[in-house]
Amino acid sequence: MIVSTQKPLEQIVAALEGGQRVFIIGCAKCATVCKSGGEEEVFRMQDALTLAGKEITGTIVIDETCHMPRTARDLRSRREQVEEADFLLVLSCGAGIQSVAEASEKKVVAGTDSKFLGNIRRFGQFEQRCSLCGDCRLNDSGGVCPVTVCAKGLLNGPCGGMEEGFCEVDRNNRCAWVTIYERLTAQERVKQLDAITPPRDFDLKRHPNTLKLEK
Ligand code: SF4
Ligand code: SF4
Repeated sequence: MIVSTQKPLEQIVAALEGGQRVFIIGCAKCATVCKSGGEEEVFRMQDALTLAGKEITGTIVIDETCHMPRTARDLRSRREQVEEADFLLVLSCGAGIQSVAEASEKKVVAGTDSKFLGNIRRFGQFEQRCSLCGDCRLNDSGGVCPVTVCAKGLLNGPCGGMEEGFCEVDRNNRCAWVTIYERLTAQERVKQLDAITPPRDFDLKRHPNTLKLEK
């Protein structure tokens, strides 16, 4: 899921300067799970902005804001409230915010910062395990991502800063390469670390990226 956090209220209010009426949009998927833009956060934002002197023309929590046709359809269903607004404040990931921008000519305000693609450890705890590099190396590394879990993205073993199994960049984190070594040893395939892993092809990380499935 895409992990996002809500921007500080002062920043949101500042971005809404020059307009009085606001329509608030949340997302029922990732932004709900990481509590940056679900039903509850939209409700709280409505209260906070009302206290800040804004008029809320309406709110909606779209099922999947990154789904462009669905977002356009749901905004059409609230046409009057959207038309009344000076700003559409969106509490979703950056992809969802742009779905809204594409579906409406209104001024769109981002109420969140999108952080990373996250695994859910437990309720309210997210960890970055994949950076979407486009050239997956997990087959060479025992299922632990060296690009992401190693703080330096090293592909061929640890740096010199590892100490007692922990990473020099953040001593709270295990060194990814220690975990990779331990896993491959336990699986009796540590020999595969003898092979040099070629550098990443950064062309595969080119953006904006698209994918069109064959019919
Ligand atoms: S190597 Fe890591 S960053 Fe790249 S696709 Fe695989 S898990 Fe994601
Ligand atoms: S200590 Fe390990 S995880 Fe940290 S940067 Fe060096 S190789 Fe990567």
